[in-house]
Amino acid sequence: MAIKYDKLNFGTAGIPIAARGSPTAEGIAKVNELGLSGMELEFVHSVNIKEDKTSPVFEAAKKNNVELTCHGSYYINLSSLEKDKIHASIDRVLNAAKIANMCGAKSCVFHAGYYMKRSPKEVYPVILKCMKEIVAKLKDENNPIFVRPETTGKGTQWGELDEIIKLSQELEQVMPCIDFSHIHARSNGKWNTLEEFRDIFTRVEKGLGKKGLQMMHCHISGIAYGEKGEKHHLILKESDMNYKDLLKVFKEFGAKGIVICESPNIEEDALLMKRFYDKL
Ligand SMILES: [Zn+2]
Repeated sequence: MAIKYDKLNFGTAGIPIAARGSPTAEGIAKVNELGLSGMELEFVHSVNIKEDKTSPVFEAAKKNNVELTCHGSYYINLSSLEKDKIHASIDRVLNAAKIANMCGAKSCVFHAGYYMKRSPKEVYPVILKCMKEIVAKLKDENNPIFVRPETTGKGTQWGELDEIIKLSQELEQVMPCIDFSHIHARSNGKWNTLEEFRDIFTRVEKGLGKKGLQMMHCHISGIAYGEKGEKHHLILKESDMNYKDLLKVFKEFGAKGIVICESPNIEEDALLMKRFYDKL
């Protein structure tokens, strides 16, 4: 099973600033009006769309040709040392995935967990076990959404690209969310050249095949970082994020899917990237 995308869509993390405060359906219409074709529903503090309010969102996305995704809760830790917290985390992913699917979203991304001073080798099986449980539940519920652990911005957070690719190879309905700004910040400045971007895309293609490149879900924004990784997001022009070479590599590999912009000026930077990409 795979998601079909006919192109690379650019979108906003949440309702565009130009429509802030409006209902989600109006936010989606604004995305289209701006010339973008993607939006991430931000369920980061709570799943803020009720089950009986999902159909206007679904309809708006269809009518405006906007690809939806969702960002799950910030309060997820599948590798917690406390069982209760693991269970609550699994429920949070499933809850977001359920509402997102009803809205027509194809993917649900989240930060999967923390190493909590353990080695990556110790934590991987813990995350794998939880993800297995999540995928089994999605199947029970006939929910076809893809759950996507995100590449994280800090060394303390679980989620290196290779770990997430491995997880995606082992489980159906799991694919990476590649946050290029996080990868760059986590390494305190690496992963920002044409060659390094090619390396990332090559890993995706080797690990997940053409399918991996045809249904990408990515985050790109300006980012401030230091020795401990990510500090906060920035506007692209005020950051060192080499988005131009990155977009060239998207083109080079024929990648399709969705690029969500999380810069503070969300739609402006999303449009900046789209316009640059369209001219390539
Ligand atoms: Zn995120």
